[in-house]
Amino acid sequence: MPPGEFELINRHFVRRGAARDDVRIGVGDDAAVVAGRAGSEFVLALDTIVAGVHFPPDLDARLVGHRVLAVNLSDLAAMGADPAWALLGLTLPAADERWLTGFSAGLDALAHRFDVELVGGDTTRGPLSATIALAGFVPAGQALRRRGARPGDDIWVSGTPGDAGGGLALLQGRLQAAGEERAELLRRFQVPEPRVGLGRALRGLATACIDVSDGLASDLGKLCAASEVGADLNSRLVPVSNALRAVAGSVPAFTLALGAGDDYELLFTAPATVRARIDALKAGVALRRIGTISSVAGVRVDGALPEREIGHGFDHFAD
Ligand code: ADP
Ligand code: MG
Repeated sequence: MPPGEFELINRHFVRRGAARDDVRIGVGDDAAVVAGRAGSEFVLALDTIVAGVHFPPDLDARLVGHRVLAVNLSDLAAMGADPAWALLGLTLPAADERWLTGFSAGLDALAHRFDVELVGGDTTRGPLSATIALAGFVPAGQALRRRGARPGDDIWVSGTPGDAGGGLALLQGRLQAAGEERAELLRRFQVPEPRVGLGRALRGLATACIDVSDGLASDLGKLCAASEVGADLNSRLVPVSNALRAVAGSVPAFTLALGAGDDYELLFTAPATVRARIDALKAGVALRRIGTISSVAGVRVDGALPEREIGHGFDHFAD
């Protein structure tokens, strides 16, 4: 280990997040040791964010720390899991104390909120990127899957999709806005809120679930493919925030709501028989029914195939 690395880890990555009583050995040994839970299964996810690809390189370090954990929490939320432990892989161009202080504070605050403890990781020098491997629990057999949607099921979405895409478009100068609306959309891009409580509440109710990272229509396509079904969306039912409606300008707000990524809302399906139970959930976010699962493959919007900018989502390897 090069000189300084030990100090750096001690200063920024020891005792970050919750102090969980199932952590036997955390940061500082060769590996972490944690205790399992009878009757539960482990749920594991890993996501990397790269400067210039997943976030603007000059994004506030605190927001980078928030983001790398939030995207992983969102994956566990989509499985209906309770998050527990995180490992952090951090690659930095230089040991910038100010940046590290901000990054670890952003990570720490979010980890506390969701009872996650940082139990280990690795720190290397190179172009800025951060990876988290996140583990959690789900009662045995109860993980929510992408597969499981059945013809006739309602399609639901949490929150107001497209806001984060609106915020990114503002940062990139593709859309213009000032005041409250600008602040709201920027916040929705910069501080994604993982829907962990909702995912947990959907265990035993939802037939399939996915988090919206690439775009609503595109992620619905993945859920449908896994479930071997199709979907009919009703554009008038897709919730669009007032902020997004106000700034959308030449791009229809609805195109952003269906096509833009980075929302980290949950998209799920459930039979009509549990509508009232879903409406009654206190998930901390509004839930809306936006369409119906069909036995006919493909995702249709108001009966037609969506335009290219809506249907494709984000693919790192597409040309
Ligand atoms: P080794 O060379 O044995 O892998 P490291 O120097 O990589 O040792 O790590 C020493 C300890 O610090 C380990 O417990 C490791 O999990 C932890 N650690 C290293 N980097 C990080 C990080 N970015 N976040 C959290 N823990 C870290
Ligand atoms: Mg190591």
